[in-house]
Amino acid sequence: MKIARSKAELSGITGGWKERGLRIGFVPSMGALHGGHVSLVKIAVAHADMTVASIYVNPAQFAPGEDFASYPRDEKSDCAMLENAGANLAYIPSEKDIYPDGPVSDIRAGAAAKGLESDFRPHFFDGVCSVVFRLFQQVRPDIAVFGEKDYQQLCVIREMVRERDLPVEIVGAPVIRDEEGLALSSRNAYLSAKELKIARRLNKILFDIVKKPSPLIPFPEGRGKLLAAGFDEVQYLEPRWGRLLAAVRIGKTRLIDNVEI
Ligand code: AMP
Repeated sequence: MKIARSKAELSGITGGWKERGLRIGFVPSMGALHGGHVSLVKIAVAHADMTVASIYVNPAQFAPGEDFASYPRDEKSDCAMLENAGANLAYIPSEKDIYPDGPVSDIRAGAAAKGLESDFRPHFFDGVCSVVFRLFQQVRPDIAVFGEKDYQQLCVIREMVRERDLPVEIVGAPVIRDEEGLALSSRNAYLSAKELKIARRLNKILFDIVKKPSPLIPFPEGRGKLLAAGFDEVQYLEPRWGRLLAAVRIGKTRLIDNVEI
């Protein structure tokens, strides 16, 4: 697997692929990779001739006071995982390759961004769209894979691609969970042993709620169950897009998950 550390290095490699008519698959990530990211890379490999994965912790999607500075970073382990998953190229740009004039959120997210995450992280989806748009321009992928773990994000990206007529096919990838059903997330590393136990109740409670005959009614009892399980805050628990989506907080850690209704 090659590593490109600048936009120029990236286009030197992908330009050759394009000339040869090879289809490029792409997985954007913020690093601290786990089995969820690996599954996305494998899906990209299956859909494309050459697969690029980017590692870039995007400052534009963090608000002051969020975990940008402390977000876990482990490039060596990330590159080994990408290589094992079959990626051909890791793109690890510097900030000036992505934001030559400093981080900006100049690509506005559309209607899919309304509510849910945006009620708690109003800056988030404009930041995500701004980085993904730039990465698409630089990598020029034919397909790009995004996880259903971040379901609203997947919908926001699909909408951005549709509305701006971007020449890329978006593929959604199923949520990868640990042996107790906890959705894998780089932020799980923040959890203490006690918090991890509580975190593992989230998926079980969501699956329980959607098993009920009428899950589309509001979820006061679901909120109560989550609080009783030890979560400190339930930010939302809402049905949308045929999924039940939730964001909760345990101590300083914010977790999101969703299940099919
Ligand atoms: P991140 O590095 O957290 O920005 O995530 C990069 C990509 O991996 C996004 O498309 C996420 O939706 C996806 N992803 C993260 N965790 C999981 C998971 N547990 N299962 C499937 N996809 C995931």
